[in-house]
Amino acid sequence: MKEGFFWEMLPLSMLGRIGLFSLAFVAMFEGSAFAQDAQPSATPLEIMQNPLAGKKICLDAGHGGPSYGAVGVKGLKEKDVDLREAYLLKGLLEKAGAVVVLTRTDDKDVSLGDRCKFNRDQKTDLFVSIHHNANAQNDKSVNRTESFYHWKDREGPSEDAARLVHREMQALLKLPDSKAYVCWSYGMLRENSYPAILIEPSYLANPEEEERLRDEKYLLSIAEAYFRGIRAFFAGGRPRIEISGNLEPSPDGAISARILCPPGTALTDPQRIRAEVDGNPLQTFSFVPETGELKLQIPPATGLGTHELVLSARNLAGHTSFVERRKFELKTALQSQTPENKKGLFMDVLKGKKIIVDPQGGGGDPSAIGEKGLRASDANLTTILYLYDYLVCAGASVSITRVADVSMDNVARVRFALERDPDVFLTIGHRLPEPGMDEKPRMNVSRIGSRWDSGQEIGQRMISQIRQILGTGSELGDVKSLKALPSEVHNWSSWEVMHAGQRYTAIYVCPQMFDAPGVEERISTTAGCRKEALAVLYGLVRNFGMDDSTMASLEGIVIDQKNGKSLRDALVWMDGILVTQTESDGKFIFKFLDPGKHSMRIMCLGYPPVVKEIDVEKEKVASIRIDLPAEK
Ligand SMILES: [Zn+2]
Repeated sequence: MKEGFFWEMLPLSMLGRIGLFSLAFVAMFEGSAFAQDAQPSATPLEIMQNPLAGKKICLDAGHGGPSYGAVGVKGLKEKDVDLREAYLLKGLLEKAGAVVVLTRTDDKDVSLGDRCKFNRDQKTDLFVSIHHNANAQNDKSVNRTESFYHWKDREGPSEDAARLVHREMQALLKLPDSKAYVCWSYGMLRENSYPAILIEPSYLANPEEEERLRDEKYLLSIAEAYFRGIRAFFAGGRPRIEISGNLEPSPDGAISARILCPPGTALTDPQRIRAEVDGNPLQTFSFVPETGELKLQIPPATGLGTHELVLSARNLAGHTSFVERRKFELKTALQSQTPENKKGLFMDVLKGKKIIVDPQGGGGDPSAIGEKGLRASDANLTTILYLYDYLVCAGASVSITRVADVSMDNVARVRFALERDPDVFLTIGHRLPEPGMDEKPRMNVSRIGSRWDSGQEIGQRMISQIRQILGTGSELGDVKSLKALPSEVHNWSSWEVMHAGQRYTAIYVCPQMFDAPGVEERISTTAGCRKEALAVLYGLVRNFGMDDSTMASLEGIVIDQKNGKSLRDALVWMDGILVTQTESDGKFIFKFLDPGKHSMRIMCLGYPPVVKEIDVEKEKVASIRIDLPAEK
């Protein structure tokens, strides 16, 4: 135990996440109850250990009767494969405690309307339509996995389900050019209740695939992939948004809502609350994680009349709530507020800096696909969204090229940058080694690519921060070096040439090589992506003028007091603003702290929230061990 820290429990009197200029909303409260729904019969622990228990799932075997679906060259009919697969999956799900209902149980055709109505009437927790594809142009060489969710539930639970099942199919079948994407048509998804997905694991019209699909063992392996994806979808649950009344803003433009974590689900992710008015993200809001209270501030410039609020939240499992899209009426003009001129994070070195953040890939472009089926484009987006939030907290003027899983080509990205004239354009990409890039396979390193001098300079200043936070680079040399180690910052002409030559500074950051041991698992978690974002944030802080040597740092670990084990998925707030999350080693790092007193708050599922005061000294690295007592 270190001296100088207070170990007693303090009343909780701080906000979880304070957006810019939102101090007007500071609410005082005490207590340790997490925001929760009404109690179900199972305990939270039971739900976490067996997430499928009691979940009602509708399996929809495609086609039937005179409707064959795809037909193979040797006569195998899709309707038969779909039904067999539905039964195999039903067996697996029921064994895990789920309640399964089928839209058809034998070889008869059921109309699309009847299938959807059946699912809606059954009030299921998930609808899965099971198919195998044929190419519309009758090209029998085509074979890939396609997973669909509907536009109406975009960025909602259906997208989560499609992404997670698709990942398992990709890991199993490894078919090239596979895609998980939103669709507008498909009545089966359009007329349904959500979450609902439609999966085409492979193309039956492909002759080799037809042979495989005759094999019961192969069908079982596909059913098991469905099962793993569906289980992952329910594990950790999702938050629930509650808006009471008719969503009328108060005279000062505040809107209240609640984000609840049903029992047995992960904590709400304070950095993944999405609130938009008329498509513009609100940067002023407050969220109290203990009670789930959310206060949004409508921008004063919002005109009178009807507006649309979009609200959703994710949890630490990475799962999203349903997206609330609500209209509201503004009847009286809002007073413009004078922002409090408070000193911000990191001595304001990032304040006003124009930074564009850019997740590589998206939509039909997965960028790279891991052994376990993770699309790099998804991890790139998660890391970028955390980085976006960190930069907003630090007062930067941030733009983001894409906020969802949508395609965006390089021309559009460059045009986006040219229109905004940023200080830095920063792409995040998790890459596989490429020929000609001087990259050996499976190296646990971070790499920054750039071409022009300005990018090289940022890379040089940033890389040691990234290496330190992520623990990369041990294969290259002295990881404590503040200078780049060989090949960490490299000249990358093919990427940089597109960035229109020195009109702005552009860098490509690969926080971790995608094929290095453990990286795919690490960046498929919220904790792993958040840590990457924090590492890049510190790199930017360092670049824009803060020096390690003058500021204080804090290294900590979160431990279960009873058994001494390190705790994963603990959220740690510094001064109510900057938040980090532990990985399985329980460790966290805060850097560039002002010397003096700081207040930290720690939340972890199954433990009461804890507040600690700490004192950090100039030019020193303090350390702290936080023991969490089990919840009574
Ligand atoms: Zn079909």
